Amino acid sequence: MEQRDKEAIKRIVGEEHFTDELIDLVSYSYDGSDHNHRPEAAAYPADSEQISRIMRLANERRFPVIPRGAGTSMTGSVVPAKGGLVLDMVRMNRILNIRVPDRQVVVQPGVVYAALQKALAPSGFCFPPDPASGKVCTLGGNVATNAGGIRGAKYGVTRDYVLALEVVLPDGRIVHTGSKCMKSSSGLDLTRIFVGSEGVLGIITEITLKINPKPTAFRTAMASFETLRQAGQAVTDIMHSGILPSVLEIMEENTIRVLREKSGADLPEVAALLLVETDGYTEGEAEYAVEKVVAAFQDNDAKTVSRAGSQEEAEKLWAIRRAVGSAAGSLRPNNLSEDVTVPISKVPQLLEGIQEIMTGQGYPFVIFGHAGDGNLHPKIMFDGSDPKQAREVHLLIDKVFQLTCDLGGTLSGEHGIGLAKAPYMHLEHDAVAMELMRLLKNTLDPHNLLNPGKMALDQ
Ligand SMILES: Cc1cc2nc3c(=O)[nH]c(=O)nc-3n(C[C@H](O)[C@H](O)[C@H](O)COP(=O)(O)OP(=O)(O)OC[C@H]3O[C@@H](n4cnc5c(N)ncnc54)[C@H](O)[C@@H]3O)c2cc1C
Repeated sequence: MEQRDKEAIKRIVGEEHFTDELIDLVSYSYDGSDHNHRPEAAAYPADSEQISRIMRLANERRFPVIPRGAGTSMTGSVVPAKGGLVLDMVRMNRILNIRVPDRQVVVQPGVVYAALQKALAPSGFCFPPDPASGKVCTLGGNVATNAGGIRGAKYGVTRDYVLALEVVLPDGRIVHTGSKCMKSSSGLDLTRIFVGSEGVLGIITEITLKINPKPTAFRTAMASFETLRQAGQAVTDIMHSGILPSVLEIMEENTIRVLREKSGADLPEVAALLLVETDGYTEGEAEYAVEKVVAAFQDNDAKTVSRAGSQEEAEKLWAIRRAVGSAAGSLRPNNLSEDVTVPISKVPQLLEGIQEIMTGQGYPFVIFGHAGDGNLHPKIMFDGSDPKQAREVHLLIDKVFQLTCDLGGTLSGEHGIGLAKAPYMHLEHDAVAMELMRLLKNTLDPHNLLNPGKMALDQ
């Protein structure tokens, strides 16, 4: 970018909404991954019109533009890999319209996930996907990564709730996709193309989301198992039992050990733990479902089964699950945390396979995740200041991706691809699929200006 480009951007957004101060550029070099690269400037647009003018300028002057929410990406997807201008959406943070009778909410992309839930609470409605980063991540980021969470098995992911979008295209045109109806069979589904597109096809400037009535009754149960197979079979049986648990989490033996040693959790020495929540709109509904879950635990010879008798007891069990990330992360200065996903019935095979790959390699690891939708989080700890360790750990992760794809799985259940998983795209997507993705990118963004370097689209 040249100085005259920066001056032109200042004229569009206003001088006070532009920065090229080193301290800001360093902050915008990072996200939640171990990738980093510095941009040349950052701007804080107020509306889609300003973004449209910036994109027209970027096309004329050929500098990269990277849309940014809260920067919590785990994959380097928001790292400005080729420099350029970061567009921080923080000023576009208004909830525009809550239409409960239509079960819809219209938001700007910079609205923080938790702020939306807070605004919906008085109406008894909610936006069901629930990323663990919800206190800070933005809805624009959620749509652009198709974020999911712990309740995915029953409530799906962000994609399932996006009805309509306003998007600024790489050439500056503004497009409105989808419909404000609860269903529509009209035309090609442009909305879905932008959901999960990681800011490479367009900048999302307005989002219409479907909302749900919030469940009012909950039950929590936990069981321990001597073998992974038993735990895996219990998962399969629960999913066959005619109910859908709202949460079905699995933790394997390394995770359990780390929780005992680092968080002082009172847990048995077993191969696996399952932690389940059921919910409903009546106490009877949640109770009926949890009884099915407990029956599946017992049928699979669970070593221990416990049920939370109160909200307080349930909270204690969920606190154990929430402690996993920080307890494991404290073992070494760095970690790689993945979100590989397989068909539900393949979860035990994936767990055993990852254990086989990682055991005896000299690096502590844990595996936990959302067994109810086949999404596991293997996390391996190492010292990133030692290049040998960094290399070795990445080689182990290569094997995990290969195993996942061999089992018919996907590289990412919720975090996306970004820079971190770009080299593995060919394992999951065939050559024709990759060609189509690149064709789409090239058609919308022939000069490769919007968030370049991501998802192996410019290779
Ligand atoms: C502690 C922690 C826990 C996490 N837990 C979860 C989890 O449970 N589930 C989950 O799915 N993810 C999780 N994540 C990953 C991350 O929070 C999500 O991917 C989230 O959706 C990113 O939102 P963000 O606002 O931080 O976006 P950013 O990180 O800023 O951006 C992410 C991507 O979206 C693009 N983008 C952002 N805004 C726009 C826009 N307006 N238009 C177009 N593109 C845009 C960016 O260019 C980038 O490619 C976690 C991350 C952390 C650090």
